[in-house]
Amino acid sequence: MSNTAAWENAVRRVVPYTPGEQPKNQNVIKLNTNENPFPPSPSVEKILREYDTSQLRKYPDTDSVVLVNELAKRYNVDSDNVFVGVGSDDVLSMAFLTFFGSDKPILFPDITYSFYDVWADLYKIPYKTLPLDDNFRIIKEDYNIPNGGIVIPNPNAPTGVYEDPSFFEEILKANPDSIVIVDEAYIDFGGLSCIPLTKKYPNLLVVQTFSKSRNLAGLRIGYAIGDKKLIKYMNDVKFSVNSYTMNPLSQLCGAAAVADEEYFQKNLAEIIRVREYSKERLLALGFTFTDSKSNFLFAKHNTKDAGEIFSELKEKGIYVRYWNKARIKDYLRITIGTQEEMDKLFSALEAIL
Ligand SMILES: *Cc1c(COP(=O)(O)O)cnc(C)c1O
Repeated sequence: MSNTAAWENAVRRVVPYTPGEQPKNQNVIKLNTNENPFPPSPSVEKILREYDTSQLRKYPDTDSVVLVNELAKRYNVDSDNVFVGVGSDDVLSMAFLTFFGSDKPILFPDITYSFYDVWADLYKIPYKTLPLDDNFRIIKEDYNIPNGGIVIPNPNAPTGVYEDPSFFEEILKANPDSIVIVDEAYIDFGGLSCIPLTKKYPNLLVVQTFSKSRNLAGLRIGYAIGDKKLIKYMNDVKFSVNSYTMNPLSQLCGAAAVADEEYFQKNLAEIIRVREYSKERLLALGFTFTDSKSNFLFAKHNTKDAGEIFSELKEKGIYVRYWNKARIKDYLRITIGTQEEMDKLFSALEAIL
């Protein structure tokens, strides 16, 4: 006899995405979710200090005009080329719901952001994963098959491997009848964006986030840039789910962060510097890793088990990310922290190895 109630047969069952741990203990060195180790631009703090709290009784601007206009200016596109959402997870989820309604499978790499298959399952979208090669590179010719859409992160996660826009241009040329989404969560850490290609390819949607390069994971802001027809279709779906998604503080602070280009560039340069320094230190400790163009390193030790290193670091209060999954179980994903945090990591590794 089963304990299943009759109504449970109608439940939309999903296995949810597992986010990286957010420990309650503030003393932990947190290198497990690719957050930025530095605070946001001082202009963000100014807005929060001076905000007129009485404004919070009103609903926010449904169109997030202040933020959309600032993004349009920064990326040299029109306002109707910009969609904003509550983190790029919201933006990607809306894009899946809007564009991936075909009977043909959508395509993405076998090793990639582990939210894609969750949304596909939730929205009942068929999908097919295409294996990366042995160097964790995407084989672009594999995407020349009938499909209901394509989604690829660049740089890829959790490998950090980056491809030039010309690589995506070839995928776009081979797939004029599909929506191609490039998830650029980490593009600012040394890559070239595909945003300029959106003017040439009306089927390209580029998605970015404020959570990594713009130091604002807590405010939940993401955006997509593409042909205005794509943005219109996405907004129609968004306004059919919830009109007031983004709160006014996120809209204002997000716009202020984008306007402070100098802080943004200085912050990125420091993270890239610490990343390159960290590569040298890891190499000396017996690790090999991909040529990451992101704010994390994907590293494998030449003798010691990655799961063991993960657990021993955790005992020492240093959190990194580890997946006990085929093909990547020998690897740790280590977010680039401050120089001081990374030096503590290397001291801990010296003790463990
Ligand atoms: C972090 C991340 C996101 C989601 O970021 P948000 O915080 O929801 O904006 C999306 N895609 C990839 C590949 C990521 O690593």
